[in-house]
Amino acid sequence: MFNLVIFGAPGSGKGTQSERLIDRYGLTHISTGDVLRKEIASGTELGKIADSYISRGHLIPDGLMIEILAAEIDRLTPSSKGFIFDGFPRTIPQAEELTRLLEARGEKLHAVLGLEVPDEELTARLINRGKVSGRSDDNPETIKNRLGVYHSTTSPLREYYIKDGKYKAIHGLGSVDEIFSRISDHIGHIKD
Ligand code: AMP
Repeated sequence: MFNLVIFGAPGSGKGTQSERLIDRYGLTHISTGDVLRKEIASGTELGKIADSYISRGHLIPDGLMIEILAAEIDRLTPSSKGFIFDGFPRTIPQAEELTRLLEARGEKLHAVLGLEVPDEELTARLINRGKVSGRSDDNPETIKNRLGVYHSTTSPLREYYIKDGKYKAIHGLGSVDEIFSRISDHIGHIKD
């Protein structure tokens, strides 16, 4: 198996680039945001809890998020050539838990692809996406909170994975094709 994290701020293009990675490498996509939005759409208890955090731009608590991720890994593993984790980890405890969850299954994380995009561009992209996405968190107030949470809580993971030797910075401006070709170049150089 070949396991990747696609990392970056909200609006950095993680979902879009994940789709390309799935097509090219046959990886299984785990987007924690998508999992939570499905729960919200189905009106489950978990969905109600998730919505109370998501609509304010806050993170779901680590313990709950880790349980959800572990269940997704186990649900999807049998058919997987490897995972692309999108939107997880978002905190240092989540990163530590991801390592443990993979190790417990005889697996490891191969690389963290960090899409690097300036804040002004992120805000512009998210406001634009809000015009069509119907997402409760793509509005100016929540976007501001989400970027704040990214900088305070999630971006320290960049340093964490640099120290771990797994982080690869990907210049996140340009066309979808240009960015994907930067990602593919890097994947070609990953050693097992
Ligand atoms: P995303 O679609 O990845 O932008 O996620 C949308 C929202 O879901 C985030 O703003 C958080 O409220 C929640 N969420 C998704 N993934 C996580 C995670 N790993 N930890 C905590 N909250 C998360």
